[in-house]
Order: sequence, then structure tokens, then C-alpha cells
Amino acid sequence: TKWVYTFGDGKAEGKADMKNLLGGKGANLAEMSNLGLPVPPGFTIPTEVCTYYYAHGQTYPAELKGDVEAALAQVGQLTGKSFGDAANPLLVSVRSGARASMPGMMDTVLNLGLNDETVEAVARLAGDRRFAYDSYRRFITMYSDVVLGVSHHHFEEILEHYKLQKGFNLDTELSADDWAALVVKYKEKVAAELGKPFPQDPHEQLWGAIGAVFSSWMNARAITYRRLHTIPESWGTAVNVQSMVFGNMGETSATGVAFTRNPSTGENALYGEFLVNAQGEDVVAGIRTPQDLTEKARKAAGSDKPSMELALPEAFKEFERISHVLENHYRDMQDLEFTVEKGKLWMLQTRSGKRTAKAALRIAVELAAEGLITEEEAIGRVDPAALDQLLHPAIDPKAERKVIATGLPASPGAAAGAIVFTADEAEAAKEKGLKVILVRVETSPEDIHGMHAAQGILTARGGMTSHAAVVARGMGKPCVSGAGSLRIDAAAQTLTVNGQVFKKGDHITIDGGTGQVLSGEVAMLQPELSGEFATLMGWADKVRKLKVRANAETPADARMARSFGAEGIGLSRTEHMFFDAGRILAVREMILADDEAGRRAALAKLLPMQRDDFVELFEIMKGLPVTIRLLDPPLHEFLPHTAEETEEVAKSLGVDVERIERRNKELHEVNPMLGFRGCRIAIAFPEIAEMQARAIFEAAIIAAKKTGEAVVPEIMVPLIATKAEFDIVNAVIRKTAEAVEKESGEKLTFQVGTMIELPRAALRAEEIAKGAEFFSFGTNDLTQTTFGVSRDDAGTFLGPYVQKGIIEVDPFVSIDVDGVGELVKIGVERGRKSRPDIKLGICGEHGGDPASVAFCHEVGLNYVSCSPFRVPIARLAAAQAAL
Ligand code: PEP
Ligand code: MG
Repeated sequence: TKWVYTFGDGKAEGKADMKNLLGGKGANLAEMSNLGLPVPPGFTIPTEVCTYYYAHGQTYPAELKGDVEAALAQVGQLTGKSFGDAANPLLVSVRSGARASMPGMMDTVLNLGLNDETVEAVARLAGDRRFAYDSYRRFITMYSDVVLGVSHHHFEEILEHYKLQKGFNLDTELSADDWAALVVKYKEKVAAELGKPFPQDPHEQLWGAIGAVFSSWMNARAITYRRLHTIPESWGTAVNVQSMVFGNMGETSATGVAFTRNPSTGENALYGEFLVNAQGEDVVAGIRTPQDLTEKARKAAGSDKPSMELALPEAFKEFERISHVLENHYRDMQDLEFTVEKGKLWMLQTRSGKRTAKAALRIAVELAAEGLITEEEAIGRVDPAALDQLLHPAIDPKAERKVIATGLPASPGAAAGAIVFTADEAEAAKEKGLKVILVRVETSPEDIHGMHAAQGILTARGGMTSHAAVVARGMGKPCVSGAGSLRIDAAAQTLTVNGQVFKKGDHITIDGGTGQVLSGEVAMLQPELSGEFATLMGWADKVRKLKVRANAETPADARMARSFGAEGIGLSRTEHMFFDAGRILAVREMILADDEAGRRAALAKLLPMQRDDFVELFEIMKGLPVTIRLLDPPLHEFLPHTAEETEEVAKSLGVDVERIERRNKELHEVNPMLGFRGCRIAIAFPEIAEMQARAIFEAAIIAAKKTGEAVVPEIMVPLIATKAEFDIVNAVIRKTAEAVEKESGEKLTFQVGTMIELPRAALRAEEIAKGAEFFSFGTNDLTQTTFGVSRDDAGTFLGPYVQKGIIEVDPFVSIDVDGVGELVKIGVERGRKSRPDIKLGICGEHGGDPASVAFCHEVGLNYVSCSPFRVPIARLAAAQAAL
């Protein structure tokens, strides 16, 4: 086995595609060497040594020592120096480098090889004693901190004390003798802390640093980071040992970082900063204010400090050239680190740069336009989930965040406004032109008008598919749900959180992307969709196999869905239509009526309203498929809650209040989510299904005439477990169709299908598909019933499940491929057995989650349906799945 890989002087033993072995940093250092770029010579100890180290009781392979010596000798030859030599010492940096960049591990030790003897040699050779001792004290600080475990604050205290004593303000005022005096104090401190002196032998220093890198692979922070980002422990880290170049050798030396394009806007312009006469950690530490790289950036920032372009013109030109070379070579925006030593440029790192969604889009589209990558590669370069950032307002990253509570990031975007506690207050405030946040323990369909009126919704209870979450997402409104630390006192009109009291009218801000609740009105950035967005979406549409529909019921949602490119409606939840102004009373009458005659009377009032709703939906969707689901609410959601409401219903029905109260009690359920809902309603009260079917058919005839486009409604039966259930409801629908055909003299074309949202329905799909013409997987309920976890209550315990690693992600957010996914697969296979051309879709919230979309592509669904704002995410995710 090869234990050491050298690089430098225009060649290397490794290359870019050896990241698994050399880590990201090592592989790219090798690649840059191979490209003939100026890289300080060095070598990489590969990840295999890390694996060996942990497999063999934290020891090294026997050959490693000799191999490192040989590599050090080669580096010495290339640099004309010798490691540990008292006259002409080679100094090195030691850095960790895993496959994926991994905060939490030992980062960097610079200037290694310095001791009381070599420091004098460095002073002599550089002709600069101050530089030598400045480097030495930096080395003692870093090495003690990361290798010996003596925290850097000890040294900062000593330095502060020294400066105070001598009357210095800035580090630059310290002379060579000052640094030399401090080095003595630093060493004394280390000896006092450890009971042994600071290591003087450069070889001991080197092996100490190498050991520290390998040990840091297993430190607590690194382990946590790996768990959160699912990085396997078995990967291990590499160690990079590289000859030092010095950015702190006076005014013609510097160190800096840069991106080849702007990482927040994507603009094709060098972007970064540098510091004259400094070492790498100074830029990161933020002690001194860095300077701009280009004159253009300097002018834009209004800075009076010279740019690198002006201060170090030769090195800048070279850097600009190299940044192009690297971008063209890697065919992506690069994140670079460099040092200038006495006017000579050295490259220390290159890697693909992190970027915002906006920048990712622009860079991908422009790289494709420049011919550097293909359209398909461009599609793969943008994270679909990040598109959310572009479609909603976001909190200004520069704004101060006073976080008062954290809940679930239920619906993306940020919103600010005055607190209100009821939907009616929200509506009243909106009419006055005020911006409000609707704060509720949880929401119910009765709150929909208030949710519409509010800027955002905040609830104390409820998971990612709770009513508030699903409805807010549908509306594209920011929502934080399940913020358990909120105490809402609706009577007192107060919101208390950790002892802090907020009253009605106080301002708060919610961030639906992170789940944070902030006090006050925080500054926002408004979304703007760029031309690149449309371009990339167009490319995505060319490659994807899955169709993308939207879950929508209101005209506003349907229009929004179309503008985002939805190819139809996959789920229209008719119960949401029942809560609109003026309807709730008729709905209550229907539910609370004692007999069929009473129900029919109420339904007669609802029929024209429903018909109008559907006409509008069909018109907006212009011949695109529209799936309408029969009524599916837990019935309790519609019941009157207050004495006032009860009285209103009683009056309208012409019965006394006691009767309504009795009926209300009869309908009360212990477990409404598993109670009287779905097809169970249509089976108990076929007249409801009949009214809805009639409204759909009559609307189809009207809309077809208006638009001149054929309307083929897809009528969907919810929550079936058995074929017998489906058959009963199907028969009601078909009988109604016949009646409407006879009355109108028109021929209807339509389909009747079903949701597959109970495990039994998935298992019995073969039988059910004999009757159902399409399936739509309702993975919200399917997840609820497969896990036996209540959708509304999941918030309180799923969080800890994720933290403890019992489950990787909330299964209501991203489909549980192994369990729920298995049921979907079974449903697909068995459904197709009896009806090979059956249309298959998904309309649970998973339809807008990229990982779940990939799963849907794999199992061969025809379409996914998601809330309107997630349509672009689904389009891109579907394209990536098809690549
Ligand atoms: C589902 O259960 O996945 C679904 C889409 O229906 P709802 O969320 O309305 O129960
Ligand atoms: Mg459902």
C-alpha cells in the first residue's frame, strides 16, 4: 500500500478524482500541481492511514515513518530547504482534509518546524527578525491550542496584558524583541499547563500534528456533524503537509480568499478579500478588516483601502488568470485560497464554492450558455429544495434575529406583523390595511379566512402535515407550527414565551424556512424571479418523465399553480371550499340534520355554490386534468363550537338548541383523524356524494361550453380500505352522471378513481383497480396509518426521534421509502396487474419533496401533485431523477 502521495513542481502522485483517498483538499492540491499552477510542494497522507489508525489501536502502518521522511526530503529538495535543519529550515503547514468539507475537525497548524534555533535561521534568511518571531508565536498559539489542548485564550490574555503594560494598541506596534519576549512567556505558560516544555523537536511537532488530525476525526463535534450530514465514519480523513509560504513577510506579501463568481448573486466576477502582511487565520479571525480584490468591488463598497488589483498588480493578474484556468478546468465556480509571498502568488486551495439558490441558478445557466457544461449538467447543479428561497420573502441575512421560540419550518418564507389571536381579527385587520400574524394553538378549517388575511401563521401545536401546515403551504404563506414553548391565552389576548409576554398588536416575525419566531419586525428581502429561473425550468421540463400537478381548490391557488407550470390539479380538497363565507352554516345544517330530508335541504343550498367553484376551476385549468375529491374532513371540524354558533344553526334549521347540542355530542369523536371521514361520509350519507358529483358534472358541461375545451373531470373517492366501499360510492357517482346526461342531453366523459391512503387499500390494490380508473397515493394518511402516528400530534415526539437518530427525517416531510414506500410500490404493482393503463399519482405533501419525487419517478408514477409554490421544486426534482 502507498501511504504518502507527493505533489509540487508541476506534478503530483494524486489527482482530482482521488478524493476518497486524498480528501477534497489533497486531491485538488494534486490536481492544481498537475495543471502546473504554483502550489507549495507537499504531500498527503491518505484516508487509508486514518482507517488503519483506528483499526489498529491508534497506531500507524510500519512503513509510514520512512515514507514521510522520504516525502519531506523531496519537498526539501524542491524548496531548497531541509526539515529540522538549524541553518536552512523547511517549515510546513499541517491540515486535515476529508472527502467532504467537515467543520468540527482539526483545521490547520501553520509554521510547524519552528523552535528556538530555527527561528533565528528564519530571521537571518528572511532578513526580518520581527517576521520570524511573529511566526513563532503564532505557531506556539496554534499548536498548543489544537494539538496540546492549551486553549488560545491563555495566549491572548498574555498578549493583551503585555500590550497594556507597554502601552501598545495594535499588534503592528510590537517589535521583534516584543514578540521574542512573548514567545518566552508563551512557552512558560505551556510548561505550566502541561507540566512539560513545548516540543522543540520538529519531528515530534510533526507527528503530534498528524496525530491530532486523526484524533479529531473522532471528536464529539465531528461525530455530531457526520451524523447530521450522514457522512460514514469509515471514510476517515487525510492529512496534508505542505511547505509554508508566508503572507506575513511585509507589504508585498498577503493572504486571501476568493470565489471565481459572486456566491450570493452569481455574477460572473471575481469576488473575495485579502489582507496585506498577514497569515491565513487573520482573514478568518476578523481582527483586521480585509480589502477588496478588484478595483470595481472596492469602488462599489466605497472603501478607501487599496484593492489587490492596485496594491499587488502582478500577483493579481496572475491570480485572475489562474481563477479562469481553475473554473474552466473544474467547470464550476471555485472557492480559492491563496498567499502572496514577496510578490509571488501561491495557490493553497480550490474547491467548488457554496452559493445561494439565486447564484446557483445564474451560474448553472451561464456556465451552460458559455458551453462549459451541458443543459443536463446545469439541471443537476441546482438544489430543488433551495428554490424555496427564490419564491418567498426571506429575512435579510444582515438583520438582527431575536429568537423567542422555535417550531417546525412548516411553510417557507418569512412574514412579519402584529399578533392577532382569531381569524376574524385577522380579517378585520386586513380590511384596515394592517399586517398581522395569526397566532393559534392550532388551526381548523374555520380559520381559513383568517389565514388568507394574515401574512403568516404561527401555531403552538401540530406537525408538518397539520391543518395549519398543509393549508399555509397551499396558500404559499409562511407558517411555523408546533412551537411548543408558546403559551397562548386567547381570553387574556396574550402570548407568553419563556416568561416574556406579548400582547395582541405586538409585532413578531416568523421564518417558515427555519421554524424561528422572532420578536419585532425584522427586515425582509422580497423574492424576484430571474430569467435564469425560467430557462432552467424549461430545460428541466424537457427531460423529466413525471408530470407535475398542483393541490389547489381556490381560483387564486389554481392560477398560482398554472403560473408555476402545473400541468393540472391532482387534488382539490372540496372540504376547503365549504368553509368560505356563507357556506359554513349550510354545511353545519347538513351535518347536524337528523334525517335525509334535512340534509337534502341543506345540500340544495350548497349545490350551486359548489358548481360555481368547479366551473371556475375548470375554466382556469383550460382542459388540463382536474382531480376533485369528495368531501373528506374529520366531521368535528365543521361542528359549531360556541353557544352563539349552535344557536345560529338551531334557528336556521328551525329546531331547538338542545337538539343540536345532542347531535353535536353524538358526532363527537375520540379520534377524529381515524373517525368519521373519507368515503365513510359518502357511505353514510350518499346524498352528499350525489350533490358533489352533480355539481362536478354540471360544471363540466358549463365550463366546456365556455372555454370550448373538453373537460374530463377525475372524481376521487377518499380513504377507502375495501373495494366494496369504492363500489358503493362509484355507483352513486355513475347514477348521478346518468341523471345529468338525461337532463342535459350532453354526453359526459369522466373518470372515477380513488385515493390509496390506507395500508389495506395498497395491499388490495389489484382488486380495487378493477373498479377504480386511477389511484392517487395519499401519503399523508398512509404515513399516519403505517406508522400509527397521528398527523396532528406528531410534532411533540417526532423531533426527538430525529435528534436521537431513530428516524432520519420526519416521514411526513420525506417519504419513508422502506415502509410507506414499500406500500406504494405494492399498490403500483398490484394496481397495474388488473388495470395495466391505470393512471397513478401522489397527492400527499411528499409530492413537493425532492427525495420523495425521486422515489415517485423510480416506482413509475405518472405524476406528482403538490402545493402550488412547490411546483417548480417538483419540476426540477423530477428532471434530476430522470437524468
Ligand atoms: C393524504 O392523506 O395524503 C391526502 C392528500 O389527503 P389529506 O391530507 O387531505 O388527508
Ligand atoms: Mg388523506
